Amino acid sequence: MLKTNERPARDKKLSQLKLDNGSKIAVIGGGPAGSFFSYSALDLAERLGIDIEIDVYERKDFSRCGPAGCNHCGGIISESLVQILSTEGINIPSHVVQRGIDSYVLHMDTGRAGIDTPLQEKRIASMYRGGGPLGAKGITRGGFDAYLEKLIQDKGANLIKERVVQISLDDGYPIVKTKSGLKKKYELIAGAIGINAPSLQFFDGLVPEFRPPDVTRTFICEFSLGRDLVKKHFGGSMHVFLLNLPRLEFAALIPKDEYVSLVLLGEGIDKELVRSFLNTPEVKGCFPPGWIESNTPACKCFPKINTNAAIQPFSDRIVLIGDCSVTKLYKNGIGSAFSVAKAAATTALLHGISADDFEKHFMPVLKGINFDNNIGKILFAFTRQIQKRDFLKQGILRMVSKEQHKPGKRRYMSMILWDTFTGSAPYKEIVMRTLNPIFIFNLIRGIVAAVLFKKGGNGSKSDLKNATESLGRIYMDGEVIVRQGEFGDCFYVIQEGKVEVLHDENGKDVRLAVLSEGDFFGEMALFEREVRSCTVSALGGGSRVLTIDKKTLLRRIQEDPSLAFRLLEKMSSRIRTMNEQLKL
Ligand SMILES: Cc1cc2nc3c(=O)[nH]c(=O)nc-3n(C[C@H](O)[C@H](O)[C@H](O)COP(=O)(O)OP(=O)(O)OC[C@H]3O[C@@H](n4cnc5c(N)ncnc54)[C@H](O)[C@@H]3O)c2cc1C
Repeated sequence: MLKTNERPARDKKLSQLKLDNGSKIAVIGGGPAGSFFSYSALDLAERLGIDIEIDVYERKDFSRCGPAGCNHCGGIISESLVQILSTEGINIPSHVVQRGIDSYVLHMDTGRAGIDTPLQEKRIASMYRGGGPLGAKGITRGGFDAYLEKLIQDKGANLIKERVVQISLDDGYPIVKTKSGLKKKYELIAGAIGINAPSLQFFDGLVPEFRPPDVTRTFICEFSLGRDLVKKHFGGSMHVFLLNLPRLEFAALIPKDEYVSLVLLGEGIDKELVRSFLNTPEVKGCFPPGWIESNTPACKCFPKINTNAAIQPFSDRIVLIGDCSVTKLYKNGIGSAFSVAKAAATTALLHGISADDFEKHFMPVLKGINFDNNIGKILFAFTRQIQKRDFLKQGILRMVSKEQHKPGKRRYMSMILWDTFTGSAPYKEIVMRTLNPIFIFNLIRGIVAAVLFKKGGNGSKSDLKNATESLGRIYMDGEVIVRQGEFGDCFYVIQEGKVEVLHDENGKDVRLAVLSEGDFFGEMALFEREVRSCTVSALGGGSRVLTIDKKTLLRRIQEDPSLAFRLLEKMSSRIRTMNEQLKL
C-alpha cells in the first residue's frame, strides 16, 4: 500500500507514463514483431491525432542472402494472417510471395493424402525472410522482412540500420546505445529482438522480474531444385510429415520459387535426426529419383524456437514483444508476433506505458496465447501416440481421402489437419472440433475399415495443377465473383485489377461502382444474414481477389476490436459517396 504522502509522487509519475505529442519510441529489432508494432502504433497515433516519433533499430541487411539477411524461418504466412493483414490494408505484394499454397500433402509411413482448401484459392504465402538462401542467384523477389521495413518507413518510422549494444536507464527513461556510438533517450522501448540474438541479456535487471522463454533447437535447410523441378514435384502444395521418428513433432517441405525449404520441429533436433528423416522413403519420394542422395542443401541452420512464454516481459517504459515474450507453439509465429505487437502498441497509445498498464491490457493477450499453447502441447502429445499406431494413421488417411473425394461434404478431419498444419485456428478450437460426435463416428468407421481392408489413403497429386506465385484467385473479365440474391458468409479484398459492382434493375444491370486494388466488397454479409445486394464481376484482363472468412474475421475482431474500425471506416465512406450521388 502506498502511504498518503507518497501518492502525489506516484500520481505524478503515472501521469508522465503516457505517450503524447512528440513522444519518442525505440523499437529494437525490425523483424515481424518490431515492424507490426511500429505500423500499429503509427496507425493508431494518426487516428488519435498524436504526433509520435518511432526509431526502429535493425542490425541485419534483409537484402543479403544466407544468414546475414535471414531471420531463420520456414517462411509460411498463415491463412488467417494473410486475411487479417488484408483487412488491415496490408496486401502482401506478388513480388514477395515465392509461392501461393493451396493444398497440403500429408505423409505418414502408412500412406499419404492430399488436402485441398475448400475454396480452391491460394491464401497461404511461402516467402523468404531475407534475400534467399546462401549463394542464391537470380532471386529477384524481395523478402518479407525487407517488405515490412519499407511498409513502416512509408508509414513514417525512422529505420536505423545499426546494432544496439546497450540499453540503460536515466531517471527511469531508457537510453539506447548503438555499435557506432549513437545514444538516444526515449519515452518507451519495444524490445523485438527474437530469441536467436544474444541481445536478450540487455533486459536482465532493467525489467526486474523478466525471465526469457525456454527454447529448443530446430532445423531448416534449402534445397536448390530449380524452378521447373519445384513446379513439377511440389506445385502449390506443402508436404507435411507425421513419421514415427523420436523427438520429431512436425516436418514440412515448403516450395518456393527455385528452392524447397525443409523445416524440422521437435525436441532438440540434431544432425542424426536430420539424417534419419532425409533417409525415409516418404521424403525421398517427394524429390526426383536419386536427387536427395546426390545433392546437399544450399543453406542450413539450427535456429532456436520457443517452448514456453517469458515471465513478466514488461516494466515501466519497456515492453518485450514477439518471440522474446510469447509465440504460438510451433506454428504461425509471425501471426502471433502480429497479435502481441498490436496489443502492446494499443496499450501504449490508448492506456499508457507503465508496468500496470501493460499488466492490465497487454498481459491478457500473452496469457491467451500461452493458455492455447498448453492445449497445443496436449494435441502434440496425442499426435505422438497416433504416430506410433499404424491402425490410427490408416484410419485418418482413409477418412481424409474419403472427404477429399466427395465434394460438398463437410470435411471434419481435413479441416482439423489443415488448421493444425497452417496454424490458422487456435489449438483450443481444433481440440473442441475433435469432440464432435460425427467426427468421432467417422474416425471410428475409418479405423475399422482400414483394419478390415488394410488400406489407408493413397493421396493424389491433383494439388500440383495450379502453381502460381500470387495469393488469392484470378477471375477473368466478366467472371462473376458474387451474385445478387445469393447467400454469402465471406467478403473479398481486391489484390490486383478491377471489379465492377452491378445492380439488377428490372432485368438490366446498372453499374454502381468500379473498385480497384485494396478495396473490399461483400462486407454486408458479415453483419446481416441477408442475400447479396449486388453482383460483382471482374473487369479487364484478370482480377486477383482474396476471400476473407466471416469466422476468421469475427474471431480476430473479438481478440482485437480495433480491426472492426477499418471496416466501419470503409462503410462510412461508401455511405458518404452514396449521399453525394443522391444529391446530384
Ligand atoms: C525452424 C523455424 C521455422 C519457422 N517457421 C515459421 C513459419 O513458417 N511461419 C511462421 O509464421 N513462423 C515461423 N517460425 C517462427 C517465426 O520465425 C518467429 O515467430 C518470428 O520470426 C518472430 O518474429 P520476431 O520479430 O519476434 O523475431 P525475429 O524474426 O527473430 O526478429 C528479431 C529481429 O531483431 C533483430 N535484432 C536482434 N538483436 C538486435 C540488436 N541488438 N540490435 C538491432 N537489431 C537486433 C534481428 O536482427 C532480427 O531482425 C519459425 C521458427 C523456426 C525456428
